[in-house]
Amino acid sequence: MSIQLKSLPYRYHELEPFVSAETLRIHYEQHHRQYLDSLNHEIRNTELANKDLNEIIHHAEGRVYQNAAQVWNHNFFWQCLTPNGGQYPNDSLLTAIEDEYNSFEKFQHHFADSAAQRFGAGWTWLVQLSNGRLRIINTRDADTPATDPNTHPLLVIDVWEHAYYIDYRARRSDYVRQFWYFVNWEFVASNYSPISQ
Ligand code: MN
Repeated sequence: MSIQLKSLPYRYHELEPFVSAETLRIHYEQHHRQYLDSLNHEIRNTELANKDLNEIIHHAEGRVYQNAAQVWNHNFFWQCLTPNGGQYPNDSLLTAIEDEYNSFEKFQHHFADSAAQRFGAGWTWLVQLSNGRLRIINTRDADTPATDPNTHPLLVIDVWEHAYYIDYRARRSDYVRQFWYFVNWEFVASNYSPISQ
């Protein structure tokens, strides 16, 4: 049994102008698939061969962890996007964002700043801490917050150059600015657990 490539929830051109069809095709068919193929190659005939992706990111180390985490992160990233995106999160998540960052616009500003400041390859996340509060974090290279019980992922943007370089060259902040028009807040909100009062 091997880990399967999940299908994209939209067609390649449907995230334009955030990312071009060419970027999305290469990102998905080459980069994402390469991580997946490497992972399947490395776990073949090992004790991880029959584990699911979630178990693998929790138990693997080194290259196996890196490839598995990249597959997990990309699966999550694709779900954070939709051609019908933009708008706002639902009431409970919007309130939580406003409580933490004063306003939705200030949250977007902090998130964009964080994405701009990730030096080199990585990911910028909105996570929910185990105390219920929200936090913006960066991870480097393949690292994922999904293995840390204190950082539950809600939203992510891929800030590896392969995610935007064809369309934006070195202008990562323009890529992040377009991101907001394609965020699937319904998915993001489904990851959020309102704090019980
Ligand atoms: Mn990527």
